[in-house]
Amino acid sequence: MSLQNATPAVFAFARYFTRPLCPQCSHEQFVPERSAFVNDGRICHGWLCEACNHGFCTTVEIGRVAA
Ligand SMILES: [Zn+2]
Repeated sequence: MSLQNATPAVFAFARYFTRPLCPQCSHEQFVPERSAFVNDGRICHGWLCEACNHGFCTTVEIGRVAA
């Protein structure tokens, strides 16, 4: 994927890099475990907590594309 030429997504780009907290132990996550993929205007990002090894996913809305 290329975020560099996705100008409308610049605002979401900042949110994309906000660090989620582990829902299991509230440890702040730093490195995404899996690459994000875009599905229907959303970015799904997989994380693996380094503190408790709990895996979870975050979803970020990047706006809808007019069909
Ligand atoms: Zn954790």
